[in-house]
Amino acid sequence: MHVPFCKSRCSYCDFVSYTDFSYLEAYFNSLYKEIEMWSETLGRQKVDSVYIGGGTPSDLPLEYIRGVMCALHRDFDLKDPEITVEINPNSSCAEDLKKLGVNRLSIGLQAADDVVLKAVRRRHTVADFERTYETVSAYFDNINVDFIVGLPQETDLTIERDLEIIEDYKPKHVSVYILETHSESMNRLHVDTDITAIHHEIFIKELERRGYDRYEISNFCVPGYRCRHNLKYWHNDNYIGVGVSAGGHIGSRRYVNVSDLHRYVEKIKNNHFPFEYSHENEPLDELRETLFMSLRLSEGVEIEKLKELAPTIDVQRLAGMFPAHLILDRGRLRMSKLGMDFSCAVLSEVIDINTLSRVTGGE
Ligand code: SF4
Repeated sequence: MHVPFCKSRCSYCDFVSYTDFSYLEAYFNSLYKEIEMWSETLGRQKVDSVYIGGGTPSDLPLEYIRGVMCALHRDFDLKDPEITVEINPNSSCAEDLKKLGVNRLSIGLQAADDVVLKAVRRRHTVADFERTYETVSAYFDNINVDFIVGLPQETDLTIERDLEIIEDYKPKHVSVYILETHSESMNRLHVDTDITAIHHEIFIKELERRGYDRYEISNFCVPGYRCRHNLKYWHNDNYIGVGVSAGGHIGSRRYVNVSDLHRYVEKIKNNHFPFEYSHENEPLDELRETLFMSLRLSEGVEIEKLKELAPTIDVQRLAGMFPAHLILDRGRLRMSKLGMDFSCAVLSEVIDINTLSRVTGGE
């Protein structure tokens, strides 16, 4: 569920997000209707994970999150769901969110240093995070904290502070993203990619030393706290994305919604799904997507699953083409540590059409 509103814009932001809150009413009415349209199309499906992200959902009046939860209960069968809401480190809505059935929070700290936070125009301070964490942890046990490595003003010392705050608060789940190489934000912010790579390496090592399992390239948790929502992406399972620029995967259909709020509202008003793109995947597309997503997980993907998608696939040959980066192990294909470190390059080569054509007998 995409909530594309924030009170202000961070300097590294490449997401679809609006600061004009006068659109809220129209947007959420469309969102409730889109939820209903999906239910009319697919029936009252069982849902075991809900993720309300953004944007900054906690910047909005709570009535909108309540509205979303009501629409979901009205149209879908929520079965013991994991319900996550993204919040800012200066929000104060924990008790109310808990009452709405939310059971997991994701806090966008990004860096535990005020100079770094200020440099990227985050609206909170480290003290705000500490105060908020202490409040929310009275209501929530399952908390994720987001960090970004590669921000301006980052130093060895600020990375140490990030790790100290993890040590102090011990969140069950930690996400560590690198400000994307070649992204607009990285060019804009003049990031030194070599230093970022060193900082990222230190971050990962230290998290693992503190007992966090790197179960996905950017995600770490203590036992029992993997994020159910994200696992759906990485297993290439079915999910519905609603809201501007949200994407979904239903059966073999892959879609992405329009990213302009006005076009989104207009399309829903005319009873059309607000697709920018909607495509029925061929089996080879499903194979590529499954490899691309599942190899991000440390456990990789079952060979059986790949064979279901492409009966002629020679997984041994595929692994042999990337001996340093792919490992075949007890019926699964996964990336080595080196593969995970260079995942962007490795994954794009693995799913390259020439590679797949060779290993599925097309060549
Ligand atoms: S909080 Fe997130 S979505 Fe909002 S401006 Fe900052 S980076 Fe963008």
